[in-house]
Amino acid sequence: TRSASHIRPVDDRIMHIASRTKIFVGGTWQDPATTDAIEDVNPATEQVIATVPAGNAADVDAAVGAARAAATDWAATDPRQRAAVLGAARDELKVRADEAADLIATELGAPIQLAQRLHVGLPLTVLDSFAALAAGFEFTEKIGNSVVRAEPVGVVGAITPWNYPLHQVVAKVAAALAAGCTVVLKPAEDTPLIAYLLAHVFQTAGLPDGVLNVVSGTGPVAGQALVDHPDIDMISFTGSTAVGQRIGGSAGGALKRVALELGGKSANVILPGADLGKAVKVGVGNAFLNGGQTCSAWTRMLVHASIYEEAVAMAGEAAVKYPTGDPFDAGTRIGPLVAERQRTRVRDYIDIGAAAGARLVTGGAQPPEGRDVGYYVRPTVFADVTADMRIAQEEIFGPVLSIMRYRDEDEALEIANGTKYGLAGGVWAADAETASAFAARMRTGQVDINGGAFNPIAPFGGFKSSGIGRELGRHGLTEFLQYQSQQF
Ligand code: NAP
Ligand code: MG
Repeated sequence: TRSASHIRPVDDRIMHIASRTKIFVGGTWQDPATTDAIEDVNPATEQVIATVPAGNAADVDAAVGAARAAATDWAATDPRQRAAVLGAARDELKVRADEAADLIATELGAPIQLAQRLHVGLPLTVLDSFAALAAGFEFTEKIGNSVVRAEPVGVVGAITPWNYPLHQVVAKVAAALAAGCTVVLKPAEDTPLIAYLLAHVFQTAGLPDGVLNVVSGTGPVAGQALVDHPDIDMISFTGSTAVGQRIGGSAGGALKRVALELGGKSANVILPGADLGKAVKVGVGNAFLNGGQTCSAWTRMLVHASIYEEAVAMAGEAAVKYPTGDPFDAGTRIGPLVAERQRTRVRDYIDIGAAAGARLVTGGAQPPEGRDVGYYVRPTVFADVTADMRIAQEEIFGPVLSIMRYRDEDEALEIANGTKYGLAGGVWAADAETASAFAARMRTGQVDINGGAFNPIAPFGGFKSSGIGRELGRHGLTEFLQYQSQQF
């Protein structure tokens, strides 16, 4: 940890960044039980920009109590009223969109244009979609002689990571609120300020007291207290597979509902006959999106032997167009990684890949030229990666692409399915039908066919060790519902 003398309460460029001393409980900003604080670091400057409370078990208990107290009334609201609040939150976030994007560029290090377009743009769309779902969803259904009532699960504990710090919160909170649940949120300690902004947004939108509560803190303390709290009905977690396994275990033991959005090692499969130039260009962009800190990133590019060397050359050329840069420079496509530990982790993986005999096409473990300050890593492309290498199996979470060669479709499928993960993927072929047939044999939750666009109302989630449950759209809403059948 750093001494207080390093703390600059206001970042030079972002006037609205300020330390927080309160937690959001029962609709008011309250003093936490703890005096411990977490430092929020700007990864481009390595400066502490603010501190927030490191909430403890007593803080979580207060928040869960507030969420429980609000649960019955919120569950009983007309879903159209919940839709109206979500719509108002969307409008308020829109008003504060520039501020939110600046915050994310500052505490995560996302390039400002990506922060505006994706990190803030997507949550606006998702809030809209859950407002529409709340208003239009059939919460009762007739099946034979039964009336089936969809009820909210109750009090939800939401635990989120830092890589899409607003989107991942909104994907849970908007769905839970639309369903009629109340929420206690523990945001990632690396990116807490954007969660504070969202709490203000919902407060301004007129969300009733206690329906959303926010306790900043660390995973092992605040997160664990939320998972273990007996009055929590469901845990919705996004993060690493290792932590997700532990949370799933304790939730199972306590018979709590659990939804887990975990890691990935997704394959971008380029079949013979595909538009190679487009497939490689889009594939490199996907792998490097958000500095490679994307759970669904296509970190493995699988190319048929007949077009393999051509694809490797194209990928090397494409990667050069992703220089690292200051998040606030308009042309920057890759900012710093979120934290020093992530930079170390990613550089270590680059060394591991080289030591295993992978061919370094571009990039490498040494810092990018002229970037002595900031957690920057060179965008890196490896070729001749084989399935037994750690860089082909393990989630790196940085701008590192592994290109792999296959000889026929069966081998491509075996490689694509040959990790413990199954979150996303891409398939490129001469026609959509061929690509779709191959995709259907992939054990993964989302596949883009010939570059199909991300759909914010399609179910998102993992097969195998990539998770349990789905987020977004109708499937995301129903995660937060349980059913009572009344027979007549
Ligand atoms: P992480 O270490 O698992 O942390 C995620 C969240 O869990 C953070 O809020 C963390 O707190 C908290 N946490 C840590 N230990 C905990 C514990 N014992 N009990 C309760 N909560 C605990 O993951 P990360 O490094 O932040 O995020 C990167 C990972 O998330 C990658 O593996 C990525 O693939 C995955 N991810 C998945 C999706 C998806 O939708 N499938 C989306 C994005 C990211 P701290 O704030 O203290 O760390
Ligand atoms: Mg930070």
